[in-house]
Amino acid sequence: MHTALEQIQQQIHSACHDAGRDPQHVRLLAVSKKQPLSKIQTLAATGHQLFGESYVQELVDKQDQWPDQGQWHFVGALQTNKVKYLVGRVTLIHSVDRLSLGQEIAKQWQKQDLTAHILLQINLAGESQKTGIDPQQAQELIGQLAPLPGLQIRGLMTLPPYAANPEDVRPYFRQLRELATRIEEAAIPGVSMQELSMGMSHDFPVAIAEGATLVRIGTALFGSRPT
Ligand SMILES: *Cc1c(COP(=O)(O)O)cnc(C)c1O
Repeated sequence: MHTALEQIQQQIHSACHDAGRDPQHVRLLAVSKKQPLSKIQTLAATGHQLFGESYVQELVDKQDQWPDQGQWHFVGALQTNKVKYLVGRVTLIHSVDRLSLGQEIAKQWQKQDLTAHILLQINLAGESQKTGIDPQQAQELIGQLAPLPGLQIRGLMTLPPYAANPEDVRPYFRQLRELATRIEEAAIPGVSMQELSMGMSHDFPVAIAEGATLVRIGTALFGSRPT
């Protein structure tokens, strides 16, 4: 038993119920950055398999200490020169925000005869300190990335500004969903908008109400991160 996990699953279910959504369409990504491997293993012992990391070296270290376990996503800002270390280690990269990064991912995955699944990270509030592409430029970037062999665009991700009241974040979640709908309507080959990665510990029920398919939860599952 894992009390925090059970509570979050309960909240996911009730948010889905309120929104008339099937809970099977919302996956919980346990964001384990800066958390010790022991906490990840405790969660995995309940059957939870999906983990998210933000730092390449930390992900590599954890996987090397705990081989062939779990399924992993990468959610952090990604330097192009570190992409090669992620090949074969992650099933989804949430944080693609520029052409050069997408090209490098395509190249590294293709070398191994693999196809990378990626999300585009959208910076909806125009916050200069955060990664993510301006929503106005998303269509153009998708047009450039879509033809690359070795790459499949599966949806969008956002990391909106923090607000004490999660309702204040709702407009961002809605904007992400609406942007995904517009991209879907453009029917670009190789592009699907199946995933909306949005919602974290303090605002995931609102994100689910607005259509999230992946909620990225760290603190509420593992406790606060050691600094
Ligand atoms: C750390 C992190 C999270 C988890 O945040 P919590 O507030 O701890 O739930 C989610 N998404 C990204 C991209 C992160 O870096």
